[in-house]
Amino acid sequence: MVSHPDRSDVVVVGGGVIGLACAWQLAADGHAVALCDPDPGGGASWTAGGMLPPATESDFGEEEILALNQASARRWPDFAARLESEVDAEIGYRRSGALVVARDADEAAQLDRLATLHQRLGLPSRRVRSREARQLEPRLSPRTRGALVCDGDDRVDNRALVTALRHAVKGAGVPVIPERVTAVESRDGAVTGVRLADGTRIACGHVVLAAGWRSAEVEGVPLPVPLRPVKGQILHLRARPGDPPPLAGERFVRGLGLYLVPRGEADLVVGATVEEGDRDTATTAGAVLKLLRDAWEVLPDIGELALVETDAAFRPATPDNGPLLGSGGLEGLTLACGHWRNGIALTPVTAEAVRARVAGQAPPEAVAPFDPARFTPATA
Ligand SMILES: Cc1cc2nc3c(=O)[nH]c(=O)nc-3n(C[C@H](O)[C@H](O)[C@H](O)COP(=O)(O)OP(=O)(O)OC[C@H]3O[C@@H](n4cnc5c(N)ncnc54)[C@H](O)[C@@H]3O)c2cc1C
Repeated sequence: MVSHPDRSDVVVVGGGVIGLACAWQLAADGHAVALCDPDPGGGASWTAGGMLPPATESDFGEEEILALNQASARRWPDFAARLESEVDAEIGYRRSGALVVARDADEAAQLDRLATLHQRLGLPSRRVRSREARQLEPRLSPRTRGALVCDGDDRVDNRALVTALRHAVKGAGVPVIPERVTAVESRDGAVTGVRLADGTRIACGHVVLAAGWRSAEVEGVPLPVPLRPVKGQILHLRARPGDPPPLAGERFVRGLGLYLVPRGEADLVVGATVEEGDRDTATTAGAVLKLLRDAWEVLPDIGELALVETDAAFRPATPDNGPLLGSGGLEGLTLACGHWRNGIALTPVTAEAVRARVAGQAPPEAVAPFDPARFTPATA
């Protein structure tokens, strides 16, 4: 049995980027906060690619998700600066931009459609021919069939982000309790506390549920929809000592269904598979083969890099790909889960929305479409 406070103003369930950022901000506002997680930082937040992509993740029919990503992108510079100064460490936040490249004529046609969508949405991207793409990133394959330059898409080292947030939470005096929360307890429709796996409880008036795809497993929470775990496998490649970095430029590179994100001086993150239904975190030979083959078609020089890590985790997915951000159907229960492929990108706006809710203030406008009540059928 681990020791922990019997009572807190707020209990945050889950210590991925979402739970950690919420706990940090709530503590900064003066609330007594406790965070529970048996493996803080060990979920999808550690495995992710670190892209902060309003444009390259935008899709037809997902304008509200784009607006939320843009709202978060605007908050990133200040969020990163505050966090870095708080913990006196860098998190690898770069206003890098991205290049989406086409490998063949079919992909070039898809890039044209994407360029038209970006234009309609007012995103700062432009279509370039192969020659200009290769001037921007000389390591691209000579067979590249053009690219889309997306200037608004940034990146961060998500592992450095997790580590910095853990330090910030500790520095803010938040106890991190290494236990799973099994249930949120309530009386007369209002939260009274949480029950932990070791049988103890913490009394509180507010719970923030940020347990990624496992949020649906916590008893006593009337989640409006189930959360699906969607597996993603990812690789880390590394330039050998004395060799140049894997990418010549700052921009991260995307193919259709593939991304290549520089990490530090020598590493390149290659991601990622999108697999429904698989419930274990094994990395498979087939996934490694596909990711490496796709990456090699875009950047032929990767054949020289060392394969230093394979990793896998689960994205928390909702039926409409948008997060659950808002009231959890009990007084004092806030949902901050279901961030799908965008949880790293959405960290600043999520923390701000949660902080506003706990303070009884209005959340940022872009958050409104992601109220969990959107899944609750209106009663006649
Ligand atoms: C391969 C891959 C690549 C990705 N790339 C990107 C990217 O480039 N950009 C981007 O924005 N997003 C990306 N994502 C998505 C992103 O990683 C997630 O949306 C984000 O990490 C979700 O954060 P989270 O804090 O909600 O969940 P997690 O990081 O999964 O954290 C949840 C935490 O809750 C804890 N927990 C679970 N159950 C309980 C319980 N009952 N009690 C207490 N604690 C509990 C877990 O131990 C875990 O630490 C990627 C995801 C994957 C898998």
